[in-house]
Amino acid sequence: MKALQYRTIGSPPEVVEIETPEPGPGQVRIKVSAAGVCHSDEFIMSLPDDQYVYGRPQTLGHEGAGVVDKLGDGVKYLELGTSVAVYGPWGCGRCYECSKGSENYCTNAAKYGIMPPGLGAPGAMAEYMIVDDPRHLVPLGDLDPVKNVSLTDAGLTPYHGIKGSLDKLHAGATCVVIGVGGLGHVAVQLLRAMTPATVVALDISEDKLNLASDVGAQYTFPSESGTVDLVRDLTHGEGVNAVFDFVANQATMDLGKAMIRTQGDQVLLGVGAGVLPVGFMSGALEATIRSPYWGSRPELIEVFDLARSSGINVHTEVYSLDDAPKAYEKLKNNEIIGRAVIVP
Ligand code: NAD
Ligand code: ZN
Ligand code: ZN
Repeated sequence: MKALQYRTIGSPPEVVEIETPEPGPGQVRIKVSAAGVCHSDEFIMSLPDDQYVYGRPQTLGHEGAGVVDKLGDGVKYLELGTSVAVYGPWGCGRCYECSKGSENYCTNAAKYGIMPPGLGAPGAMAEYMIVDDPRHLVPLGDLDPVKNVSLTDAGLTPYHGIKGSLDKLHAGATCVVIGVGGLGHVAVQLLRAMTPATVVALDISEDKLNLASDVGAQYTFPSESGTVDLVRDLTHGEGVNAVFDFVANQATMDLGKAMIRTQGDQVLLGVGAGVLPVGFMSGALEATIRSPYWGSRPELIEVFDLARSSGINVHTEVYSLDDAPKAYEKLKNNEIIGRAVIVP
């Protein structure tokens, strides 16, 4: 089968021919219908050899959807031909966090070397993919896999981040989304669907800010230090109730810190390398800073239900597997509006 693999440190991913995998006991093979292109892929491919821990060759793709194609020995309660999405942050399934469905925070994953597909295990950018356990599949039902595959990460991650701040996002509240790319443009829609808060979007690209307006942001501003005053003016000088930062470099974290109000939330979702000073005399009183990772299994089911009821719409650019390297090139140049999705 064809697959997109990251093979050589510092080189672009390559389309290669590899053997079609067989599902082992307890595993499921899906015929991939769609796979999303995430900035985290670009991040891992930018790491030097001594920091790269995902194994090579690495079949990319941690946002995956497909059709159940073959069951390994012992797999029950799953019909061949079912359209499914893959829950990506695989865990052991048995620790306390996994028992709650929070496999994204599995306490055994490191010990047993359990890694997500596309970020350690073979991912979804291939014609077929092995899923380690049927509990990591969520039926898509009537949802189009191409339009909705990215909800498994670009939807689930902001959803999980927003849920942790819901009590702050009451009527009259204002929140800021920094970086309206793949995750950020879904975050804007989730905030509008889940809360009565006013949504302000910041980005360095005018095209992304236009997308933010199209999907429901009430205000958009360039992401620069002068914007702090503009945003504070919107809140009568008090500052905003929550900032969701999908960049989290030093510039955006400083911006977020300067904008939040007393008891506000600064939620860091981007994997930038910014660092913030924290202390009684530093920043808003009783502010909370969180760095959530991905989301839980029940939350993924909720995201798909929300997509059905509220029409969350991922703005997608579709590429074939052969053209997947082009999609990564465009992502690197910040030229993707919304999410690139690979359809093998
Ligand atoms: P993306 O490339 O689609 O979007 C990034 C956006 O940020 C772009 O619109 C870009 O113009 C904008 N941007 C860049 N610099 C900026 C700045 N200084 N100020 C404002 N906007 C700026 O990326 P994505 O796939 O949406 O991923 C976003 C981030 O989230 C990445 O760092 C990714 O690794 C991370 N991520 C984290 C998790 C998690 O579990 N926390 C999950 C998925 C992705
Ligand atoms: Zn991702
Ligand atoms: Zn676990």
